[in-house]
Amino acid sequence: MVTDGHVSAIGKLEHGVVTEIQPNNPLLDHWTGPFEAPPFGGIEAAHFRPAFDWALAEAREEIAAIAANPAPATFENTIEALERSGRKLNRVSAVFFNLARTDGAPEFEAIEREIAPLLARHRNEVFLNSSLFARVDALLRKRDALGLNSEQARVLDRYHVAFTRAGAGLADEVKRRLTEIAERLAVIEARFGQNVLHDEKSYLLVLETPHDLEGLPDWLVASAARNALDRSLKAKHAITLARSSVEPFLQFSARRDLREKAFAAWAARGEHEGPTDNREIMNEIVRLRAERARLMGYESFARFRLADTMAKTPEAARALLQSAWAPALARAREEEASLQDLAAEEGGNFKIEPWDWRYYAEKLRRRRFDIDEDEIKPYLQLDKMIEAAFFVANRLFGLNFIERSDIPLYHADARSWTVLGPNGAPVALFLGDYFARPSKRSGAWASAFRRQEKLDGPVLPIIVNVLNLAKSSEGEPPLMSFEEAKTLFHEFGHALHGMLSNVIYPLLAGTNVATDFVEFPSQIYERWLERPEVLRRFALHHESGAPMPEALIERLLKTQTFNQGFATVEYAASALVDLGLHADPEPPLDVVAFERQELKALGCPEAIPPRHRVAHFQHIFGGASYAAAYYAYLWSEILDADGFEAFEERGDVFDPALAERLRESIYAAGNLRDPDVAYALFRGRPPKPDALLTKRGLAGVAAESSTLIHRRRPRRVPCSFGADRGFSEL
Ligand SMILES: [Zn+2]
Repeated sequence: MVTDGHVSAIGKLEHGVVTEIQPNNPLLDHWTGPFEAPPFGGIEAAHFRPAFDWALAEAREEIAAIAANPAPATFENTIEALERSGRKLNRVSAVFFNLARTDGAPEFEAIEREIAPLLARHRNEVFLNSSLFARVDALLRKRDALGLNSEQARVLDRYHVAFTRAGAGLADEVKRRLTEIAERLAVIEARFGQNVLHDEKSYLLVLETPHDLEGLPDWLVASAARNALDRSLKAKHAITLARSSVEPFLQFSARRDLREKAFAAWAARGEHEGPTDNREIMNEIVRLRAERARLMGYESFARFRLADTMAKTPEAARALLQSAWAPALARAREEEASLQDLAAEEGGNFKIEPWDWRYYAEKLRRRRFDIDEDEIKPYLQLDKMIEAAFFVANRLFGLNFIERSDIPLYHADARSWTVLGPNGAPVALFLGDYFARPSKRSGAWASAFRRQEKLDGPVLPIIVNVLNLAKSSEGEPPLMSFEEAKTLFHEFGHALHGMLSNVIYPLLAGTNVATDFVEFPSQIYERWLERPEVLRRFALHHESGAPMPEALIERLLKTQTFNQGFATVEYAASALVDLGLHADPEPPLDVVAFERQELKALGCPEAIPPRHRVAHFQHIFGGASYAAAYYAYLWSEILDADGFEAFEERGDVFDPALAERLRESIYAAGNLRDPDVAYALFRGRPPKPDALLTKRGLAGVAAESSTLIHRRRPRRVPCSFGADRGFSEL
């Protein structure tokens, strides 16, 4: 048995037959353990490359057989056969990419760089395959005569879209170039993400003296001690570039010099000279994307990318961002003035800078609402917040969660729960992996180790939520900020979208929907955390067990629109830069320079940098699923703001009939219908956009006329994929 990677795979591929016996490899075996979960305990980095080679070769065989079938195309011999193909490859990929992002051994990076272009090539071999496309196209043409049910018709339709958007109908030389582009993008996008992780890992702000800890609350000191301990430092405290470490540091540290240092390092990720520099990579990525769009007959990458979303055009996405930008900017100016006053009052003779905003905003919040993070955090215990998320799922959808200990997971911090449906039968396995560690990517996300389907009998999903909370000191329960608790609910909303999925065909399962729709089930779920009836029950003091006082709940909920000028501007600035980068027929040669000019043209205040600077903007460069689509969070927010009002109108946020409609048309429905249709089924009407600004406390804010976004660039003569993607937090 040849197991040395490349050679064996290429050999198999060229000869077109699998003649060897399946290697002895836990990734390829039938998983027989509890819940047929991946046998994490027995998986080593060395297993992946041979498993990929084997599974890729098998998937190619399966595809070749479908394409070469002498029988005329039928739904069964083409669409269902495609749905059955590559199952092993999907399984190996899911385990690999989940582990690479959460607990990647150093070897994973090299494997990812090797395997990413091979997967891209395989994808093109499927979706650029002329005989395969001819079969799918023939089926689509006689669709009405095939006797398909609505789900089957939808799968056929989505396959046709996937083939068309991949370029299956184009000339051979164009397809060859598309393949080259896809493979190159796969390599450099993987590199982009790895570079950011490197920069995050290689930086620590070491706090040497008590003076360096000035202003930090006890829990932050404790987590800084933990960071130092984890890295065996002699010094006792350290701040990392994980959002859960650096953001609270910026919020609380009274040391302006240290805040500036931490902020500078945080902002510079991906932009250091040397091997982890992302600048040239970004330039190449936008060039290649624009070329691909042109080859596909689209004027720009954004136009190509958005054609298969709810927004449909860059203009529609921009109009939404613009409608929020103007009032947000006006509000942010007011906020900035208040922070400036506060700093002056304390004797500060300086202009508010990006490393000052969070610090003075926290002080102002304390003053205005008589509330501070330190007062809230002791009531937000991780375990209780997990319970709260489960409780809401029980009230809305009748789910129950039983923690299990019989499944060896990939890391000691990861946990697993069986999810039981209303009739007591298992519907999913849920994994939670909540703490930051050096081997984990920053951010928060939900992903699948296995997607739901029932083409050949029920396949139950295995869904994971990943967060990056700071660990507390030994023996103390982990505590969260309200924002972190909202993130937990957000990711759990995505998880429910995967776990409640109830479709036959894998292609339509769970979160495999338009990017600007996928954040609706996650964002609306956050709203239940903001309910007094949930907080009363689960926001319990970690020492006394006492519930959060009513007055504190009231004050906490009142602060939800505080600092929304800042939050909306920092988000929308990133979204507008993303859209601008990808909307031009001639992409910018220097992405960093483009970002600078764009922010200036937008009138973005210097004190509010974009939420993600381009050189570490993983959403759009590190895997690309939100490229030209970072606006999607705000688009989905129209739906969640308007959608949650439906519950409020009923006077019961757990209204059973409405919850059932939400489950049936949204959480269980995957991609069974167009998102507009799915939403209207739940709401009884299309969404009204006004709820969005009301939710952010920006309704009725007068916008400055100078803040309107003018973008007039010369337009040249006008001359995609349904990827299986993870999804992450803002
Ligand atoms: Zn999300």
